[in-house]
Amino acid sequence: MKPEEEPSDKEAENTEEVIETVEEMEVRRAREKRAIDKERWKPKTGTGKKVWEGTIADIDALIDNGIKILEPEITDLLLPNLETDLLLIGQSKGKFGGGKRRVFKQTQKKTQEGNKPKFATFAVAGNNDGYVGVGYGKSKETVPAREKAIRNAKLNIIKIRRGCGSWQCGCKGPHSIPFTVEGKCGSVILRLMPAPRGTGLCVEHECQKILKLAGIKDVWSKTRGQTGSKYNLVRACMAALQKLITMKLSSRYHEPLGMVEGSIAKTTEVKQNE
Ligand SMILES: [Zn+2]
Repeated sequence: MKPEEEPSDKEAENTEEVIETVEEMEVRRAREKRAIDKERWKPKTGTGKKVWEGTIADIDALIDNGIKILEPEITDLLLPNLETDLLLIGQSKGKFGGGKRRVFKQTQKKTQEGNKPKFATFAVAGNNDGYVGVGYGKSKETVPAREKAIRNAKLNIIKIRRGCGSWQCGCKGPHSIPFTVEGKCGSVILRLMPAPRGTGLCVEHECQKILKLAGIKDVWSKTRGQTGSKYNLVRACMAALQKLITMKLSSRYHEPLGMVEGSIAKTTEVKQNE
């Protein structure tokens, strides 16, 4: 009997160890990825060198002071959970209904040798928690266009202000936006309105991708103009999100609206420490 019992005890011990390592594994992987990124990257700008050394460990230090990010690796290091996605801004050509939405917008220049195609795309980068950016990339081939777009998205990262401005909800949680904002580009006007918990993102599909990566969960919207031109729609969406943070609001409204600037995780940590 005893030899049988011993292995079971060992197994139990092993599983406990495994659980511990699983919890730590994510942290360790993130740290390893960070180390690899750091080794490959040789910073060129002064800001980049400070980030590499660790003098600047918070992206707020850059965004709040209006310091321009000129190297995409800065965003990679300071926002470890960054995700990227491509927006469908183009259309495939063809008969029989064609016009299927595509990632790349294909345009052509007529030359003596024939048609010279170019590809353009929009990328969105965000950490699902208060930071998001979009970038436009154009090239003669698809792959460099995508790389340029992702790079630009990382350079154009902005901070989002979240809260609950819905009178139907009033939960003081940062699941929606604190007040109505409007963005405009070309003929497109996009209005984002606070919505109660559980509403979801009631916006056009490409804007949904942006708002999801920004960490906003519930929102209502209204658009006006030629929203079929996705370039203008995406720009209008970013203009609206920019207004969330640029609008000046007396601090007495912060608490009733449940307002959080940037990352929720970081803000709760700071509050707990206080
Ligand atoms: Zn609410």
